[in-house]
Amino acid sequence: MFGQMMEFPLLISTMLTHAERYTGEAEIVSRMVDGSLHRYTYRDAHKRTKQLANALVKLGVNQGDRIGTLAWNTHRHFEAYFGIAGIGAISHTVNPRLFPEQISYIINHASDRFLFVDETFVPTLEAIGDQLTSVEKIFVLTANENFSTKLKNWEPYESLIKNESTEFEWPQFDERSASSLCYTSGTTGNPKGVLYSHRSTLLHAYTAAMPDGLGVSNRDVVLPVVPMFHVNAWGLPYICSMMGAKIVFPGPFMDGASICQLINDEKATLSAGVPTIWSGVLNYLDEKKLSIPSLKRVVIGGSACPEAMIRTFLKKHQVDVVQGWGMTELSPLGTMNTLKANQTSLTDDEKIKLKAKQGRVLFGIDMKIIDETGDELPWDGKAFGDLLVRGPNVLSNYFQNEDPILIKDKNNQEWFATGDVATIDPDGFMHITDRSKDVIKSGGEWISSIELENTAVAHPDVLEAAVIAAYHPKWEERPLLIVVKKSGTNLQKDELLNFFDGKVAKWWMPDDVVFIDEIPHTATGKILKTKLREDFRDYKLPEK
Ligand code: AMP
Repeated sequence: MFGQMMEFPLLISTMLTHAERYTGEAEIVSRMVDGSLHRYTYRDAHKRTKQLANALVKLGVNQGDRIGTLAWNTHRHFEAYFGIAGIGAISHTVNPRLFPEQISYIINHASDRFLFVDETFVPTLEAIGDQLTSVEKIFVLTANENFSTKLKNWEPYESLIKNESTEFEWPQFDERSASSLCYTSGTTGNPKGVLYSHRSTLLHAYTAAMPDGLGVSNRDVVLPVVPMFHVNAWGLPYICSMMGAKIVFPGPFMDGASICQLINDEKATLSAGVPTIWSGVLNYLDEKKLSIPSLKRVVIGGSACPEAMIRTFLKKHQVDVVQGWGMTELSPLGTMNTLKANQTSLTDDEKIKLKAKQGRVLFGIDMKIIDETGDELPWDGKAFGDLLVRGPNVLSNYFQNEDPILIKDKNNQEWFATGDVATIDPDGFMHITDRSKDVIKSGGEWISSIELENTAVAHPDVLEAAVIAAYHPKWEERPLLIVVKKSGTNLQKDELLNFFDGKVAKWWMPDDVVFIDEIPHTATGKILKTKLREDFRDYKLPEK
């Protein structure tokens, strides 16, 4: 017997329609490529999105067609998100920070028919234009009538939508239809596509919006620093529309000064981004002796958030840090670190320690850790093993790839192997100790590179730290600590190593420290360990 409720498919268009009707006055503010601020409301956004939808239909865009974007977080990118998915096509957000060869590979692999591109990325497309096999026309996200480019077939976005009607009836279709496509920024091999559905996007937005998720309400002013080209900015454009929360898009300006200015000018209450962004922000606040009183909460994920960062935010700026863990393959949020009822009476220091874990799963995700034989490991906060997940927000296959990726456990249940190594404590808090490729295997025992990195960045003179395995004749691998010092400091190896005393097990102590000017990052801001391993392949550890 079926339930007797009205059948409304969970479509992305419903979120914007809802936002216009019930919170139409809420603002969307964008810092544009030229530095100016653009300001309008959800009501205006919906009108322009409907104009875009009319234009796309006229261009002959069909359900399931892929349309690419190479764009910063701005109102035009927001319109593209909703306009493309709203008519049943697939919004394919391309990460413009990838190498040009990867960008052309991704666009061709997805067979994008049209591209929406910020002015900033036009030179990239000019360079690879000849290699793009499926693109029919490029729309440059600009209002600048004097903008010129060598691109062959292009038009300004504003002229595409200008004469279109602001009336459009969003089509109804199966909620399981594909809505958006994101490629992993794989450090090895070609990037792989993850195809989300309208249903998975809405389910993710519902759970991620909740108090134990990102905790977004209509009263929030949300500053999504995490780029819209990286897993749909962790779902924030959808979540904010669902709640009708004011959005502040930072455009291309993600340095400490620009972010702090936006927080203070627009009175942002909630922001989200990777740790590198926040270390820039904290440094700037420190240097200029500034504060950010409106900010209540910052969600940090994408890489491990160091305990020192959580402490500075809380103690110096009264900002609560909520660490999140996720993956492109998970829509993306898997766990969030919000306290359980039995933890509210912990001291500040105990809370800060706990918050350095990646947290507990959101509704809709199940997780477990297993050993090499596939047996589940206990939730004792000590045993660590490969982290597996399952649930409606987890992918079942990569886009246009036949190879099965899910693994079956002994009960015949299918799971996705995350490639992360983790512990789970009795409260269900998961703690990533490493990517399985990055863990240091010293004499058969595992050392967590993340824990050593977090310890190093707690030193006041350390800006950034990475730990990789270096060859050791006896132990096979030993930790090598690579450090970028804060400018104007004169940190020495011995002082830094002494700092580790009592903070990590003696046998975890790095065997050596190398100071460098800059640590390489992936296109999504993670430390690029493959490059560091290559650079330090022949590194000889000092004999002890
Ligand atoms: P991506 O698909 O680019 O978002 O990368 C996903 C990977 O980033 C995960 O498998 C983790 O290795 C890493 N990651 C994401 N969030 C965290 C976090 N809070 N702490 C540690 N690693 C993280």
